[in-house]
Amino acid sequence: MQGERGRGIALCIITGASRGFGRTVAKELSLRVKPGSAFVLVARSESELQTLRAELAESDAGRAGLEVRYVATDLGLTEGLEKVTKAVQEAASELIEHVLLVNNAGKSPVFTEMAEVNSYLSFNVSSVLCLTARILQAFPQRPGLRRTIVNISSLCALKPFPSWVLYCAGKAARDMIFKVLAEEQPDLRVLSYAPGPLDTDMQLEARSKSGDATLRKSFNEMFTRGQLVSCEESCNKLTKLLMEDSYTSGAHIDFYDI
Ligand code: NAP
Repeated sequence: MQGERGRGIALCIITGASRGFGRTVAKELSLRVKPGSAFVLVARSESELQTLRAELAESDAGRAGLEVRYVATDLGLTEGLEKVTKAVQEAASELIEHVLLVNNAGKSPVFTEMAEVNSYLSFNVSSVLCLTARILQAFPQRPGLRRTIVNISSLCALKPFPSWVLYCAGKAARDMIFKVLAEEQPDLRVLSYAPGPLDTDMQLEARSKSGDATLRKSFNEMFTRGQLVSCEESCNKLTKLLMEDSYTSGAHIDFYDI
């Protein structure tokens, strides 16, 4: 990324890039990376990834040589992780000076069965841990290489919300995974960023389907009072954090903290 501390050719891997916050992160980062950089975009919806790739190809960054690949796959499956690892290896080159993984894909669950709980945790926790491990294995520490891992977190990692048990538990587990990683590998830059209440499909689901009536009401009030945050506004704060690069590695930083 280009910035005070971030000059260099980047390889950016962004999960959940087909819509919502991940899509905005991909577009915003494309404005910041140096020519010769490469993106690997991941989600299940192929047509939306194709559209984003076309948009990026036609942008100034695309014309300046940004290489964009996408992987349409389910990250809750081992096969999905393998496809992403392969695409990342294909996009890698010796010129890469900064590897940036944004673990953004996520969902809010409705569940009754153990299989649904397992499937939720597989996608929201296990795949994030395994994808991060695979990327770090593919790009071991070497002089001149910066490695940054972003965990898109939530206030739910810190605060219990009735009826959101799996979402809260998953986000809390992810925050701890990345705190441990920051302790284990001091050369890495690790950030858990809680993006605020975003005006996305996930919010729509939260205000229409949350099991707890009080919580549904409060999400609906936030929406009608215009209190939701745009993906662009939140992403600006995330990119500022990444460019300044002065956060404590492993920290949980919320949109409202900055
Ligand atoms: P969103 O609009 O629902 O987008 C979720 C993204 O994840 C989509 O690109 C989706 O693409 C992808 N995805 C879902 N299941 C997947 C799977 N099994 N495999 C691969 N990709 C998958 O959500 P968002 O609001 O942008 O949320 C982005 C992140 O911010 C999440 O981690 C969320 O927990 C966090 N967050 C959101 C809010 C909020 O208010 N919205 C607040 C705090 C934190 P496909 O459907 O194409 O697979």
